[in-house]
Amino acid sequence: MLPGPTIIKKCSECSGSIEEHTIASGNTFGATFWTDGKRDAPMLPDQPWLVICPHCQALIWIDEQAELGEVEPFSDSEIYKSAKSYGVPELQDYFSALKISNLSKNKERYLRLRAWWSGNDKRRGSGIKQNLSDDEKENLQALDKMLDTLDDNDRLMKAEIKRELSQFEEAEAILRESFDSEFSQVVSIISELVQRRESFVAEINYEN
Ligand SMILES: [Zn+2]
Repeated sequence: MLPGPTIIKKCSECSGSIEEHTIASGNTFGATFWTDGKRDAPMLPDQPWLVICPHCQALIWIDEQAELGEVEPFSDSEIYKSAKSYGVPELQDYFSALKISNLSKNKERYLRLRAWWSGNDKRRGSGIKQNLSDDEKENLQALDKMLDTLDDNDRLMKAEIKRELSQFEEAEAILRESFDSEFSQVVSIISELVQRRESFVAEINYEN
């Protein structure tokens, strides 16, 4: 992974300086893919949209914060000494952000997707197999309604949402429809989980 410049942003709530690290180039080598669409890629770090200000803990959209300047990677410049890296929101943060009125569709979809992933984090791999909370179920039902039934990727997400909500027949009905060939491996992995009536997020092991 090759880091790009660090962009220094100013928090709109407290005017504190925040570091936004960028990536010049990365790849998905050694990445783990999950049925809920999350990707954990060590060589391609996540660049979240909603972040937590490291100074005042406000939930802020990183692209809406004013830019103060840029620092080259590996620079020992001390111009922005007080700048700190942002924090990453957790499940409850996404739920509180969803209570903001007049959210754009894009933001709402982002928050619902991130809330889904964040709730699932404890269930990944050898994690605990804890049933979805009522808030998580409500979130998935709302996300399901936002997805585009004409888009293969969205339809696959709908099937996975139905599976995680234990609505296995509905998941099967979606998975029986035709999908572009690039999705065939994921479709068969999720279909197998549906057949076994398994509702937890699972790792996708792509065959090379
Ligand atoms: Zn702040």
